[in-house]
Amino acid sequence: MSECIFCKIVSKKIPAKVYAESSQAIAIADINAEAPFHALILPKTHLSSLNELDEKNRGPILADLFELANQVATEQGFREKGYRTTINTGKDGGQTVFHLHLHLLAKDKMSEKL
Ligand code: 5GP
Ligand code: ZN
Repeated sequence: MSECIFCKIVSKKIPAKVYAESSQAIAIADINAEAPFHALILPKTHLSSLNELDEKNRGPILADLFELANQVATEQGFREKGYRTTINTGKDGGQTVFHLHLHLLAKDKMSEKL
């Protein structure tokens, strides 16, 4: 999907601050951070949302995303203190970029309600 902005970030056609990378996923800084630390964890292959996962790829893809989130939380030093992970799905879920991504927010006390 050549016009997808996150695919362009994955292929380094447009720049982003990269926190960490694995063979299957990349963690970048959100361009419009909503917390002192706000990363987006993207699968390197294009999938528009959680709804595109099926019973075969759901486990491995979500494992890749959460594995990298865990690595970033450790490297950035907030793993024990805490952090928030969110996936927005579809228009009513607040999704604005239709390339699956996990938000990783930290370094502040999150509100107890969403
Ligand atoms: P969503 O609303 O789809 O869950 O989250 C999309 C996120 O992508 C937003 O938090 C937005 O700030 C971020 N974003 C949108 N365009 C870019 C971009 O070009 N680069 C980066 N690094 N983040 C972006
Ligand atoms: Zn994409």
